[in-house]
This record gives sequence, C-alpha cells and structure tokens, in this order.
Amino acid sequence: APLMGANAGEVLVVDSTSINLFKTLSAALEMRPGRTEIVSERYNFPSDLHIIQGAITHFYPQHKLVEGEESDDSILELMGPSTAVVTLTQVSYRTGLIRDMERITKKAHEAGALVIWDLAHTLGAVPVDLNAANVDFAVGCTYKYLNAGPGGPAYLFVAKFMWDKCHPTEIINNNIG
Ligand SMILES: *Cc1c(COP(=O)(O)O)cnc(C)c1O
Repeated sequence: APLMGANAGEVLVVDSTSINLFKTLSAALEMRPGRTEIVSERYNFPSDLHIIQGAITHFYPQHKLVEGEESDDSILELMGPSTAVVTLTQVSYRTGLIRDMERITKKAHEAGALVIWDLAHTLGAVPVDLNAANVDFAVGCTYKYLNAGPGGPAYLFVAKFMWDKCHPTEIINNNIG
C-alpha cells in the first residue's frame, strides 16, 4: 500500500490483473447507471481490452468501448456525459509513455466518470501516489516490477471514499454461451 500511495485496507492482494480489472470495472459500471461508455486506449495492454470487450459482450451489451490514441489529450477529448468509466494503463508496455494520472483522473471526475488505473508497468518502476491523485480504483500484478515471479498474485486498490458506495457485482452467468 505505501508503495502506491494507498492507506492500510485499501489494497487487496488477490487473483490476476485481468480478473481484478473485471471486478473493478463491473463494480464501477454499476455505480454509473445510464452512462454507457468505457473510455480506454487503442494501444492499451491487449488483455485489458479483451476484459473490457468480454464484459460488454457477456454482461453489459448496452455499453461500448471508446478507444483514444496514445496522447493524454486524445483521451480527455472522449470524456463526456456518457462516460461511465475511464480505464488506462499508466505506463505503456509498448512505448514507455507515462500518463498524467492526476490530470486524467481529475478530468474524468469532472465529467462524472470513475477511473481504474492499471499499474502493471508502474508499481516498482516509477513513483505513484494513488491517494494524491484521488484515484477510485487500481489494479496490477506483482510478477513484473515487484519481482514476485511466476504465479505471483495480483492486487486491486479501492479508495476508502468508495467503500460505502460500491460492492462486488453478482454476475449471473446465464447469459454466457
Ligand atoms: C501483464 C499485464 C497484465 C496481465 O495481467 P494478468 O495478471 O496476467 O491478468 C494486464 N495489464 C497490463 C498492463 C500488464 O502489463
């Protein structure tokens, strides 16, 4: 928790990054009924995009994924009254670009949206302060820059100010297949 600028109790070491992204995404979408857009980046880590697309296909068919380009400005342009969630990887695995977490989070909140940051290439590599940036949710793994090695579990962060507002989503599996 201290490494990511979180307080005790805000970080849970559990599951994989992908599963944690699904869990935080579904919890966040439930908190923004009536908003139908999930903003991310075209070049986001492929499995993150697969999770978003899978969540839409199987559980949130009324939602759509809106993909920006690599610049922070192209992401900001996509935020509006339909934006439910903005989810991005802070450090690009492809180019090393470091996104301005504080600026994007602030603009997302101004638009009425929630944020989920993927810290897989951030934590252990560059400084990060989730509480200073007022972040709602974050996810990431321990097996890259935290050196946990193969099989190391992932983590999720839920800001304390969200605890009484969100809950794990009960997904009913009968619309798969
Ligand atoms: C490695 C990585 C993942 C993969 O996470 P799993 O723990 O294998 O689900 C997800 N997102 C990013 C940005 C990654 O770098």
